[in-house]
Amino acid sequence: MRRKLFILFCLLTLPAWLAADENDTAAIRQFAEVADATAIENVQPVKNIILMIGDGMGFEAVTAARIAALGRGIGLAFDRMPVIGQSVTYSLNDDLITDSAAGATALASGLKTLNGRIGEDREGRKTKTILELAKELGKSAGIVVTCEATHATPACFASHVKERNNYWEIARQMSQAPLDVLLGGGYGYFLAGSRKESFRDDELDLLGEMQKRGAVVTTKIPEFRGLDLSRVDKLVGLFAPSHLPPAGKREISLPEMTQAALKILSRNPKGFFLMIEGSQIDWAGHANNLQYSVEETLDFDQCLQTVLDFAGKDGKTLVIVTADHETGGLSLNSADEGKKTLTAGWTQGDHTANVVPLLAFGPNAAAFGRVVQNHQIPQLAVQGWGVKNFTGFAFEK
Ligand SMILES: [Zn+2]
Repeated sequence: MRRKLFILFCLLTLPAWLAADENDTAAIRQFAEVADATAIENVQPVKNIILMIGDGMGFEAVTAARIAALGRGIGLAFDRMPVIGQSVTYSLNDDLITDSAAGATALASGLKTLNGRIGEDREGRKTKTILELAKELGKSAGIVVTCEATHATPACFASHVKERNNYWEIARQMSQAPLDVLLGGGYGYFLAGSRKESFRDDELDLLGEMQKRGAVVTTKIPEFRGLDLSRVDKLVGLFAPSHLPPAGKREISLPEMTQAALKILSRNPKGFFLMIEGSQIDWAGHANNLQYSVEETLDFDQCLQTVLDFAGKDGKTLVIVTADHETGGLSLNSADEGKKTLTAGWTQGDHTANVVPLLAFGPNAAAFGRVVQNHQIPQLAVQGWGVKNFTGFAFEK
């Protein structure tokens, strides 16, 4: 009998012993699914919103880029942002880890959803995006990325599908979306299936259709550079069948594409919305590759400088910089200043639950200087457009 009781005692206490041995585990409380939008006091009118997303870019990716560029100094474009907060990135999945689809849906539509969803809520209802809202308000809209245009982050602003891997359908929807500028990679999804370099299984010629609807369409960088942008109102430039090459090998940089987008979009007297993604910071994190991370983050930072040059002169542009999540659990260990090397540690090759940077510049920037849920970012942003209740409501399309 005693022996039996002892075994029972062991079984009952085993979970507690295991937890005690796992130093990396802590108890968590139940967390709220969503928080209400927060009204901005003394809201200032905003003409343009530029949302910059460093995919997978945690605070440490920025720190590594700063050390690589400036040693002990500060002075990146990031460092010139007057308002700094943090974004909490979890999705409706129960492990606190968002993927890029749920993360970008929160940033685009103002609501949290399940991983994998592109512009849809947890019930699969289509959600209105900030880009679609901009068009309703008579503004222009653009997307600039270094990945395929159909990848999760850009897709969440201009398409609505249940599964992020449905690239054919995302391309079809994006070709019909109210976009004035689309720059990046991924023309393989927009070419008829019989064409060389196409990834499609059908004969939809989506580049041709966009051209018919009035867009200037190009897949060649020299042709893009030769365009007289003052005469171009709609521009589609996709410069690789799949993703653009990594920053170190890219023939066209994020700042160059952004400059072109700003030239076109800023001609609309009613303003514009522009989403810019430094897409490959995330891939550097997945690969635990510090050099790649630094090069991508510095390309993104130079792009921010281009944006700040524009926004500083304009005075009516709200610039927001954030990430959809952190990737890799990057931590900086030590540097050898003589050899100019920096050593990093990574906790894993996937996304983490770390909070991410939230930086803002321009009218209403102060509203972002705190800890927010990721889905509150567009809710706060559009208040300068006079929209108070952008809470990710579903709508029929
Ligand atoms: Zn991501």
